[in-house]
Amino acid sequence: MKVEGTFVRSRVARRILALFMLCAFVPALTLALLTLGQVRNLLREQAHAQLVHASKAYGLNVYERLLLVHRDLQQMAADLREGTGLGGATPKMIPGTYASLSVVGPQARPVPILGEPLSWPQIGGPALTHLNANESVLVVEPASGAAPRIVLVQLIDPGRPERFALAAELNPVELWGAPDDFSEAVGVCVLAETGAKLFCSQPGPASDSASAASTVPEPARTSDATAQQAMIAGQWQLFLKPKFYAPSWTVIETEPVSAAIAPIEQFTRIFIGVTVLSLLLVALSSVVQVRRTMGPLEKLIDGIRRLAGADFTHQVEVSGSDEFGQLATAFNQMAARLGRQLDTLKVLSRIDQVILSKVDVDPVFALALTEIGALTPAGSAVIVVPESAAAGEARAYRLAADGQQISRITVAPPLLSRIAARPEGLWLDAADAAALKCALEPGAGRGGSLFVLPIMDRGNVCAFTCLALADPAPLADAVLAPLRELCDRVGVALSAAARDEQLIYQIRHDDLTGLPNRLLFKERLSQEVASARRDGRSLALLYVDLDRFKSVNDSLGHTAGDELLEQTAQRMRTCIRESDTLARLGGDEFAVVLTNISGPRAVSTVAEHIVEALSGPFVVGQHESYVSASIGIAICPTDGADSEDLLKKADTAMYRAKDAGRGRFVFFEERMNAEAVERLALERELRQALLRNEFSLHYQPQFDLRTGRITGAEALLRWTHPIRGLVAPSAFIAVAEDTGLIEEIGRRVLLDACAQHAAWQSAGLRPPRIAVNVSGRQFRRGDLVLLVEDALRRSGSAASALEIEVTESLFMDESANAVAMLDKLRQMGVQVAIDDFGTGYSSMSYLKRLPVDVLKVDQSFIADMTDNFDARAIAKAIIKLAQTLNKSVVAEGVETAEQVALLKRWRCHRVQGYYFSRPLAADRFAELLRQQQRPTEPQDEAVSMLPATDAAR
Ligand code: C2E
Ligand code: MG
Ligand code: MG
Repeated sequence: MKVEGTFVRSRVARRILALFMLCAFVPALTLALLTLGQVRNLLREQAHAQLVHASKAYGLNVYERLLLVHRDLQQMAADLREGTGLGGATPKMIPGTYASLSVVGPQARPVPILGEPLSWPQIGGPALTHLNANESVLVVEPASGAAPRIVLVQLIDPGRPERFALAAELNPVELWGAPDDFSEAVGVCVLAETGAKLFCSQPGPASDSASAASTVPEPARTSDATAQQAMIAGQWQLFLKPKFYAPSWTVIETEPVSAAIAPIEQFTRIFIGVTVLSLLLVALSSVVQVRRTMGPLEKLIDGIRRLAGADFTHQVEVSGSDEFGQLATAFNQMAARLGRQLDTLKVLSRIDQVILSKVDVDPVFALALTEIGALTPAGSAVIVVPESAAAGEARAYRLAADGQQISRITVAPPLLSRIAARPEGLWLDAADAAALKCALEPGAGRGGSLFVLPIMDRGNVCAFTCLALADPAPLADAVLAPLRELCDRVGVALSAAARDEQLIYQIRHDDLTGLPNRLLFKERLSQEVASARRDGRSLALLYVDLDRFKSVNDSLGHTAGDELLEQTAQRMRTCIRESDTLARLGGDEFAVVLTNISGPRAVSTVAEHIVEALSGPFVVGQHESYVSASIGIAICPTDGADSEDLLKKADTAMYRAKDAGRGRFVFFEERMNAEAVERLALERELRQALLRNEFSLHYQPQFDLRTGRITGAEALLRWTHPIRGLVAPSAFIAVAEDTGLIEEIGRRVLLDACAQHAAWQSAGLRPPRIAVNVSGRQFRRGDLVLLVEDALRRSGSAASALEIEVTESLFMDESANAVAMLDKLRQMGVQVAIDDFGTGYSSMSYLKRLPVDVLKVDQSFIADMTDNFDARAIAKAIIKLAQTLNKSVVAEGVETAEQVALLKRWRCHRVQGYYFSRPLAADRFAELLRQQQRPTEPQDEAVSMLPATDAAR
């Protein structure tokens, strides 16, 4: 078995291995040590017990011998007693038992029987009593340099007081035993009560240990440092007192511990061997087990790492069918599925990119078809996009070796309906398949089946994909699901493309007329200008603005206005060629580009046609309306070499056409540019004039024809130009209106007029009501009422001191919200007059409801009324109308006595004009007031004023 080292590097592997070892090693070792200790103790105790037993056996043996000697001595004593005393024959004795034998007495010289003579031992008292009882007394006599001598004393005749006794020194070999009787392993020692060593079977350490031995089986240590051997000792007490009247002896048997526990040594060796072997087995099996676990685990970890690094192709190879094998199989399947999904997602995101970045949807089909090829077992695939569902025309996209191919095919509408009805997909029958097979790769699907999956966009089939499959078995979910997702995304792409197309169309076309709008027009104009310049041709730009469209819009409503604009576009279309461009630039402005023109004559003809076409009546709803067109024409390259320039110049020419009386066309001329430049200069000067306070007010009195008294005054703006001197409003009011400067100018006029009224009053004069002209733009700002209040408050004038002059056009401008503001002003006490009445388009019935106090008949009617019947009729009608509506009426621009006479006849009593007074500077007006306030002769006041008015003229 091969153990690879890599897994040991794994921390988990090391941990598991250590755990395995710990679990096996610690209990085994503990058990081994405990068992060994236990067995060792047992052996030691057993050895001790044996030694005690042996000591006893040995002690009894020695006692037996002592008894034998005692009896022998008794016998000898009896023999001696019965014999002839000490001088008798030598007593019989057990041979070898005695080292020496003597007859001794306390006062007698010892008589040796055997060996060296022995002397009377030091005994007395109780020992003598013991002797007297015919017993032996054992005496241990120390011997210098040798083992003590054991002597037994036996009275020869206890009945005799001389006390002769036999003293026998025992032969140590007979008493203790011959050296051969003892084993080498076990030492035997006999100790006296004093501890003196009487006998030891072994010299040296054994005897030492015997002297040190205790009764416990603890190993004793010999004194020999070299041997340093632990010993076990067992002892037995030999009681000598009863029989031999001597202190007890201790018999000790000793044995080395090693000898005692010798059996365990082998056991230990086997035990350790077995333990080590089992540990090795444990280690080996752990290593194998850990390797079996860690190997697949590491492969799986590696696989996951690769997966994280987007490597979906790597397969984790784990053999076996255990959990790891199953995990690896599942992992491989998962990686493959993820890889597949990621590929699909990539394609989807690339489709999204195409959707977001391009209007052209074709690349989406190529991407989708490539993915379908990878995803499905289809031999060939095609995406069919119906173009006209009714006609069955469709585009078919297919991937060929040389890229994407688009072909036109016919898809029968019933087939399309069937595809739409089966969002889950449809297997085509032979008849249907025939129609589509031609779109597929040549030969594809032959013998196989066609599967169609619809591509939906908001519930409608916008396309479908058709797969040629060799096997007509249903597609697996794992294939069908991403295929559907792909189709959905293609649907989104198609929908987005359609929406983009729609949006682009909307951005570049006018909703109402369907004509190109300003954006597209500018693009086309730029293209046409560039191509005209390149080819050396001319083109004409016609800027067409409808006249009076606003009044139609205001009076008939926006729907009618829209209708009119649509009709205008239709009429204009009839006036131009296919190749020309007609556009609506916004509001009532149209533009035409006439390309490749032969000369101004041709342009004039088209312009004339347009003017003519638009001058006829428009029937909008129930109404018949009339609008005309003012056309400005600029020619490229004569008037401008780029589109912006041409547009500007055509626009300028168009304004000129309007100024010239509308309903006509005007070619741009260079001098128009000069005027435009002048206009700009005027605007700049006006701004400076505001900064430098160059504006002032003149006051033109209004008179009552019956009394001749001043009944009012109109404040008229004057500009004291640093170079040109006094400039009349007609020269700058229009520019001030266009630029919005009129708002600030008008504010100052209001403040000045009110302040002047207050000043005159403070000067003791009785100034009349002052009429101030207010522009429509001031109304549109929305703060006019506040402005008036402010002017009145600042000056301290009453609201009755002020009249506001507005023109009829104000009421046409809904955004000005004029009626509400005028109502408010009238509630405050300010009067409202309609200036230049009769030139606008006020409806008479509407007039009744307007918050107006005064009508000022336009001076054009007054000027013409003496010579022109129409003017006279209109002037008269206005005066009558005012009287009928119970409104005050002022005739302005009265210059002649005839006019005065007529007005008087028509009972128009309020007049204003040069006939009576020109507009006057404030001081001169004050003079006039003063003059009027002087007491006069009672006569016709109007006549009386004439000298004054003459002076004023
Ligand atoms: P309007 O309000 O109709 O003023 C009357 C104009 O007729 C004044 O011209 C006046 O001088 C002139 N006029 C008066 N009597 C006669 C006459 O008998 N014969 C002739 N031919 N003209 C006469 P002006 O001052 O040049 O003002 C022209 C217009 O400028 C005014 O017409 C008014 O619309 C506008 N305007 C004047 N001042 C202001 C102002 O402060 N604010 C605004 N928004 N417009 C003003
Ligand atoms: Mg006026
Ligand atoms: Mg006027």
